[in-house]
Amino acid sequence: NLEPVADIALIGLAVMGQNLILNMNDHGFVVCAYNRTTEKVDKFLKNEAKGTKVIGAHSLEEMVAKLKKPRRVMMLVKAGQAVDDFIDKLVPLLESGDIIIDGGNSEYADSRRRCAALKEKEILFVGSGVSGGEEGARYGPSLMPGGAPEAWPHIKEIFQGIAAKVNEEPCCDWVGEDGAGHFVKMVHNGIEYGDMQLICEAYQLMKDALELSHDDMSEVLAEWNKGELDSFLIEITSNILKYKDTDGEPLITKIQDAAGQKGTGKWTAISALEYGIPVTLIGESVFARCLSSLKDERVEASKVLQGPSNATYQGDKKEFTENIRKALYASKIVSYAQGFMLLREAAKVFDWNLNYGGIALMWRGGCIIRSVFLGNIKTAFDKNPKLSNLLLDEFFRDAIQDCQESWRHVIATAVNLGIPTPAFSTALAFYDGFRSERLPANLIQAQRDYFGAHTYELLSEPGKFIHTNWTGHG
Ligand code: NAP
Repeated sequence: NLEPVADIALIGLAVMGQNLILNMNDHGFVVCAYNRTTEKVDKFLKNEAKGTKVIGAHSLEEMVAKLKKPRRVMMLVKAGQAVDDFIDKLVPLLESGDIIIDGGNSEYADSRRRCAALKEKEILFVGSGVSGGEEGARYGPSLMPGGAPEAWPHIKEIFQGIAAKVNEEPCCDWVGEDGAGHFVKMVHNGIEYGDMQLICEAYQLMKDALELSHDDMSEVLAEWNKGELDSFLIEITSNILKYKDTDGEPLITKIQDAAGQKGTGKWTAISALEYGIPVTLIGESVFARCLSSLKDERVEASKVLQGPSNATYQGDKKEFTENIRKALYASKIVSYAQGFMLLREAAKVFDWNLNYGGIALMWRGGCIIRSVFLGNIKTAFDKNPKLSNLLLDEFFRDAIQDCQESWRHVIATAVNLGIPTPAFSTALAFYDGFRSERLPANLIQAQRDYFGAHTYELLSEPGKFIHTNWTGHG
């Protein structure tokens, strides 16, 4: 039966694709499932999709014939060549105005290229960030679609239908042109690296400086999760800390202290360097993982390199725990401010009309960085859509002000005890730099002019560059 009955086709029957199909089915959409290895189509229809309205296809021709127009084809396949291969096979089968959506973790530059190439063929391309893992895909992911804007009205109902909801608002909106969806997903992942590192630093301070038990730390985080820091990552960390192995010991204490990475945090840091935006906290978070994975070298170094003799905090533990919470909160504000600075710059470079409040809402639920805090960011952009920096919003300015003393105290203490807090520290250094009317870069200008005749600009004559013969006399 080749009747065009399907609302959308989904290619890629691994875990993400299967779950998204079932989610779409739950919301009343008819999905046609396809996979390169076609036996998986039959297996899926017979098992997971049994009793649903999901239909299948054993060739791309059959799949396309079963689609209503304009045809919507979504891919959830391995990022990279597989996406290009499918696009090449689909193009001859589609017609003007049809839509190809890539929901994989593709690089935004690839999405820009694909969007432009498909535009020539009058096919509408959408590159969509999908976050929330398997569980999110099944019951409500955060979706970040970008690409050809003409595609949005045709996919909006499906996308907003299946997305996570917070206060009944879908965590999905149109992000912007060509690679914007995947760029926003990349920054989301970078911010996730930052949030995780900040929690790790709080954990180490409580564990080593305060010598709290894992159960106590779990309780502290559960408490934090009731306030400003209410978020998925704080919640799961509280659960992790209290989880016991079969021998009754906290499982976390038996896990190797070397973190891996798939690279999206690194991509964010690379973009930050490329566009000249100081996204220092994500950068430090990536480097912190790199340092953690130099385990053998650290073990060797730990035998020779000395730190301070005293490694525990002597003051009031309860008070210091609250200081750590405030340091985490202030650092988190800086991290998100930096992330949005990067989005703003990319929007300038690529001429994207980014909807910043919408992005905060997309991250508010469904994804790994979901938190109450993102609701505050949404409010800040609703109040002032042209807000140039989150730190200048009244709410965040006051929040930082309230945390500032604790933040400085925690970092100073960590330095004195020899406990590394790269993300807390870089956030504070950024804050102090950003709020400085004058930085010492006048000296950098002078040094460059001295050794390389690069010229310098006078404070009194902006735009005028002059050179001085620094070794000359008179
Ligand atoms: P995956 O393991 O990344 O990919 C498996 C799927 O890709 C299978 O359908 C496979 O088909 C197909 N595939 C692989 N190489 C191919 C090629 N050269 N030509 C054609 N098809 C090829 O699956 P996943 O974990 O479900 O993820 C799908 C996409 O979503 C990825 O881009 C991933 O990064 C992204 N994503 C994943 C998560 C997550 O939590 N897992 C979250 C967000 C986004 P065969 O069955 O024929 O091998």
